[in-house]
Amino acid sequence: MVDDAQQCRPAFALNSKPDSASQRLQLLQRLLSSQEPAVMVSHFFDALAPRLGFAGLTYTPPYQRPQVELGTEGRHQSDYALKGENQNLGHMTFHWDRRFNERQLAEVEEWLSVLFLPLSNALRYQDALRLALVDSLTGLGNRAALDTALHRELRLAERQETELSMLIVDVDHFKKINDHLGHSRGDEILKQVANLMSDTLRDSDLLYRYGGEEFVVLLSNTGPAGAAVIAERLRRTVAQVFARSDRPVTVSMGISSRRPEGEISMHSLFDRADQALYRAKAQGRNRVEPEIGATTQALFSAQG
Ligand code: GH3
Ligand code: MG
Ligand code: MG
Repeated sequence: MVDDAQQCRPAFALNSKPDSASQRLQLLQRLLSSQEPAVMVSHFFDALAPRLGFAGLTYTPPYQRPQVELGTEGRHQSDYALKGENQNLGHMTFHWDRRFNERQLAEVEEWLSVLFLPLSNALRYQDALRLALVDSLTGLGNRAALDTALHRELRLAERQETELSMLIVDVDHFKKINDHLGHSRGDEILKQVANLMSDTLRDSDLLYRYGGEEFVVLLSNTGPAGAAVIAERLRRTVAQVFARSDRPVTVSMGISSRRPEGEISMHSLFDRADQALYRAKAQGRNRVEPEIGATTQALFSAQG
């Protein structure tokens, strides 16, 4: 597939000459019509592949974003590490059906210099958006991310008439843990609890740090009975793992579920789980409580 014509080139020079001012402007306008790096690269490909004669382009953005593959894989390829002064923009590979020459490579580099700034801004913008939705201590989605997801999941459940449940998880006596072990050990414990829950949940379950020592789990396609099983598994895992540590840590949980008979608001789902959590605390902590009216009581007989 790739023969000895493969070349690895250094980061292109930012000051390389553009093809012509008006063409540069045209491409810039097209690139700036989107803030999405993948769309930008696809505009870049559409505008330049016919002109420069490459058959395909692979863009590997930084930080585990998905790769963008456009066109076809040719027999030859030229690679570029896209690096700014303080920013890694990833890696771009051009695929060529026929052996390319130095003139074509020089042109590619000139056009890359047009892509560089818009792509840099789009990546920074995406990073900022992502950071605004991530809790920096645990790496989980934060409250803003939860609001968006809850809205989306509720609409989806209504449209598809599927079940949806929510767990509110609260670490028991966390104030005492902080008082006894110090705030930074408290932070470590919060991270551990977050990791444990994340490892215990299925990939399709959504886990958020709601605030302080409180977490929320959204369980799509899951009704009260299924949610009770998952909640109990989470509770037991946390209690068992920390029972072996210097400081026992337990969590309490309240469960609510979307009512099959019709639409309920985000607030109603949240309030019912919160009231159930309140009862779990009042009944001694290290407990899972369903919302009032849920027919899952039998599932809780084993807990303690
Ligand atoms: P309960 O069992 O009733 O939930 O008792 P609690 O002590 O866990 O609840 P309370 O709401 O009284 O205290 C929560 C504590 O969590 C107080 C606050 O200082 C601590 N906390 C909140 N956010 C953080 C954090 O990011 N790191 C640490 N270390 N502590 C936090
Ligand atoms: Mg709390
Ligand atoms: Mg608490």
